[in-house]
Amino acid sequence: MTRRIKFKSEVGRLLEIVINSLYKHREIFLRELISNSVDALNKLKFKQLNGEEVLTPELEHRIDIKLNQQGNTIEVIDTGIGMTEDEIIENLGTIAHSGTKKFFELLEKKDEISEELIGQFGVGFYSVFMVADMVEVISKSYIKDSPAVRWKSEGKERFEVDVLDGDYKRGTTVKIYLKDDSKEFLSESRIEAIVDRYSRFVPYPIYLNGRKLKQLKPLWLENPQGLKKEDYEKFYKYLTKSELKPLTYLHIFSDAPVDLKSIIFVPPFSLIKFGLEDDTGIRLYSKKVLIAEKTEEIVPDYLRFLKGVVDSEDIQLNISRETIQNDPVVLKLKKTITKKVLKHFKEFLKKDRANYNVFFEEFGVYLKEGIVKDYPEKNELAELLLFETTEDEKKITLEEYLEKTDYKDSIFYIVGEDRKTVEKSPYLEQFYKKGVPVLILTQVLDETVLEHIGKFKDAEFKLITREDVFLEGEDKETTVEEEDKKFLEKVKEILKDRIYDAIVSSRLVKSPYCLVSQKNAPSSQMERMMNALNKFYVPSKKILEFNTSHPIYKGLKNLVLNSEDEKLKEIVLNSIVDTAELSEGFLSNIPQAVERYNGLIERLLELDKN
Ligand code: ADP
Repeated sequence: MTRRIKFKSEVGRLLEIVINSLYKHREIFLRELISNSVDALNKLKFKQLNGEEVLTPELEHRIDIKLNQQGNTIEVIDTGIGMTEDEIIENLGTIAHSGTKKFFELLEKKDEISEELIGQFGVGFYSVFMVADMVEVISKSYIKDSPAVRWKSEGKERFEVDVLDGDYKRGTTVKIYLKDDSKEFLSESRIEAIVDRYSRFVPYPIYLNGRKLKQLKPLWLENPQGLKKEDYEKFYKYLTKSELKPLTYLHIFSDAPVDLKSIIFVPPFSLIKFGLEDDTGIRLYSKKVLIAEKTEEIVPDYLRFLKGVVDSEDIQLNISRETIQNDPVVLKLKKTITKKVLKHFKEFLKKDRANYNVFFEEFGVYLKEGIVKDYPEKNELAELLLFETTEDEKKITLEEYLEKTDYKDSIFYIVGEDRKTVEKSPYLEQFYKKGVPVLILTQVLDETVLEHIGKFKDAEFKLITREDVFLEGEDKETTVEEEDKKFLEKVKEILKDRIYDAIVSSRLVKSPYCLVSQKNAPSSQMERMMNALNKFYVPSKKILEFNTSHPIYKGLKNLVLNSEDEKLKEIVLNSIVDTAELSEGFLSNIPQAVERYNGLIERLLELDKN
C-alpha cells in the first residue's frame, strides 16, 4: 500500500531556498549524499564492533555510484545501517535535523556571510533536488526481518512511501532522476572530480560504475614528516566541508606513553561570532573507527573552537557518551593534547606574528575564558595574550611589555572605552614623562583576566587610576602648606557626597586634577558594569587629586578660601568632579551636571553684563 504524505511545511520552504540560493554549488548534492552514506556505514560498523546483531554482517562496507546515461539517473548506494518505514518518514519528511536547521539560520544572516560559507553547511539530503526532478530512496534496515521501504518524491509538496516485498540488500540506494539542466553529472570524469574534491578522505571505498576510485588514507595516521601544508589544507576542507584554509594546525603523532594520532586545526574565524554553533569539532576515533563526531571531552572547554581528529588505539571501542568524560585514557589524551596545543600556540606566536594576531582577534576571548575560569594552564595562557599599550597600537605580550620597561616588578594598566579616550587621560602623564608603557584595556573582561592571572612572572598588575599606584621615585605627596590643608578640608566638606578624599599630589603633569580609586577598588569601568548588572551595587567613592602647579589650582584655592559665594563654590567644585569623570569617558549624573553647566553659563553671562 502506498502512503502519500505531505512534507512538513518548512521542508517546502527549504526546498525552494536550497534550489535558488545554492544553484552555483549544485555539485555539493553528491557530497551530502556520500556524507549520509558514510554516517550510515559508521553507525553500522559501530554496532558490529559492539557485538550487536546485524543483517548480513559479511556484506562489505562500501559506497557505489552508478551513472546511467540512457535512463538519465545517478544512484548512490551504501551498505550502511539503512532505514525502517518509520525512520524514513521521520528522517526524510521533516527537517528536525541539525544540519538543515542550521542552514536556515544561516540564510537569515546571509548578508553577513559569504557564498563560500554557505556551501560549508550541510544542507543535507534535500540538496539533491537541485539536480533532480524526482528522487527515489530504497532502504533496508540492518534490523533483521524489517522489510525494505521505498520513498519517492518530486521535491514538491508530498512524498510517497511503500513497503516492498522481496529481497533487498542491507543499506540505502538514492536514485536521482536528473533534471534536463543537470546532465553534466552523468559524466564519469565530472563525478570523479567531485568525489576527489569533497570526499577524498572518506573512510570507505567508493566505486564509480564498478571501478574503485582512488582515495586517500586517513591523514592523521601518516607520518607527518612526509606531509605538506597542502595535504593538511585539503584535509581541512574535507573535514569542514568548506573552501577555507585553517589558520594553523598541528599534527600529534606518538605511540608512547599513549597511542595518539591527531591533527588539530584552528579555523580561520569563529562562527560563534555570527551567533552560529559550529558543526565540526573534534572527531574521536579508535583504530580508525569513528566513536564520536564531535567530542567535547577531548580538549578543555575553552579550546572548543578547535577542529580536527583524535585517534587512539588505547580508547575502548565500546566507550559510551556517558563514560567518555571520566575515561582514564581520554583524560590522559586530553592532558597531552592540551599541552601540545598550547605549546603550538606559543610557537605560532613566535614564528608567525601576523597570523597570530588574526588568531588572537578571533579566539583570544577563548584563551581569556580559560584564565577567568582558572584552568590549570592559566599561566601558559597568560603568555599567549596580547595587549595594546600606550606606546604603540600594535599589540604585545606581557613578556614583551616587561622587556620594554625598567619597572620589572610592575605591569601598569589603564581601563577605558577606547584607545582615543584613554590616550589623553591625565593618569598617564607621569608615565609619558618617564617613558614607561602602560597596557590599555578596552574590554572590561580584560581587567578580570588580569585579576585571575594574579602575577605574571614576578610582576604585579597595577591599575594606574588607583591612589596607591605610583611610579617609583615620584613623590606622591607634594609639600602641603597650612593653606592647602584648609582648602582641601573645605573641598572635602562641599563634595562629601561625591568624593572620599581630596589631596594634592605629583601624579599629574599637565592636567589640573583627576579622580583616583581607593586602594583595591576595581576600575570605574568595572564598577559601572557591576552597577549595570546589579542596581544595588554602589560604586566606591573616589579621591580627588590636585596638581598644585596648575593655574586652576591657585584660582580654586582663592575661590574656596576667600569667596563668600557658597553657591558658586558648589557649582565649580562639582563641575570639576564632572570634568574629571568625563576625562575617563563617562558622567555619573547627567541631569545634575547639565543643571550645573547652565548655572555656570548664567554666571559667565552675568560677568559679561557687568
Ligand atoms: P543530516 O544528515 O544533517 O541529519 P539529512 O537531511 O542529510 O540531514 O538526512 C536526514 C536523515 O536521514 C539522517 O540524519 C539519517 O538519519 C537519514 N539518512 C539520510 N541518508 C541516509 C542513508 N544513506 N542511510 C541511512 N540513513 C540516512
